[in-house]
Amino acid sequence: MSAISRKSHDASDVLENAFGKDKSPCRLVYGVASLPLGTPVELEVIFEWPPDACLLESQAAVRDIRILNKEKQKMGTSNIADKVVVITGASSGLGESTAKLLARHGAKVVVGARRKDRIDAVVKEISAAGGKAIGFAVDVTKRAEVEALVKGAIDSFGRVDVMVNNAGIMPIAPIALLKVEEWDRQIDVHIKGVLYGVAAALPQMQKQKSGHIINLASVFGIKVFAPGGTVYCATKAAVRTLTEGLRMELHSQNIRCTIISPGAVASELQNSTSDPSSAKFVKDLYEKLAIPADSVARAVLYAIEQPADVEIDEVVLRPTAQDF
Ligand code: NDP
Repeated sequence: MSAISRKSHDASDVLENAFGKDKSPCRLVYGVASLPLGTPVELEVIFEWPPDACLLESQAAVRDIRILNKEKQKMGTSNIADKVVVITGASSGLGESTAKLLARHGAKVVVGARRKDRIDAVVKEISAAGGKAIGFAVDVTKRAEVEALVKGAIDSFGRVDVMVNNAGIMPIAPIALLKVEEWDRQIDVHIKGVLYGVAAALPQMQKQKSGHIINLASVFGIKVFAPGGTVYCATKAAVRTLTEGLRMELHSQNIRCTIISPGAVASELQNSTSDPSSAKFVKDLYEKLAIPADSVARAVLYAIEQPADVEIDEVVLRPTAQDF
């Protein structure tokens, strides 16, 4: 591999001069770009082209782009770029929106959920926009599948910087209806699913001596909504308690822990309510109040982008008009 440092905004000029006799991939310091915060960054672009090709610009493919600036640690986006972020429940709603936002800020995202077609579509969209993403079919209630998701991240990207345990359901119903299977599923997805995510990612984070676990709780983990949300609220309170316990156990190992507790946010969550009158209540409420999924994605980004010595313990966010 040739290593050539040169600044230019003109791809054809760089290729003609640098690639003349050598057909191996070349690493070029190729240009300067501005990220959303307006800080100029130097980009390293690695080109590659087919073995028998003439070395024309049109035949070279960009294989990788990295940010080179030594200053990048000081930038607002520095703690996002190149981080490997695993997100469960990324086939819709908050997880999908978070994956896309983090990828736009340079993270390598590893997305999982049960609906593989939806996960594939998320990966495709991120890749088409120039981001890095891979996806897996994952049921978070199955420990082996969550382990496979994290292994996929390590195999492809070499590490796990952030584990976002986001997968969730919200089957609202009064306790008297005895929807015991739905109680079980909420316990399995919200409590066991989060724990399986922790179990899968923690050994790698300990090996790296750094990491960040972000768990999706809810404002209903703070205040009980009943009748209807009793079990949902109990599982989300458990997520908050678990995350605080993790923080106390892991801070000395340089692993940050963050609780994200949203109010009503537009997503597919309300579709998991099977009781018709509860479903109508939730639908009416969300139609009136819900804020976009992107608002939670920005909260996740905020927690990740802080310098390593700053931990955001909890972000509680809700529609301004929501009173509970
Ligand atoms: P969505 O229904 O849009 O997304 C939920 C995600 O979880 C989907 O990707 C779904 O994918 C996935 N999921 C559900 N069960 C499983 C499972 N067993 N294994 C793997 N993935 C699973 O809802 P939201 O985006 O709103 O929900 C995301 C999180 O945010 C949840 O934990 C929710 O409780 C929390 N939250 C949401 C609020 C809101 O108002 N929207 C408010 C407070 C918290 P698939 O079906 O493909 O598996």
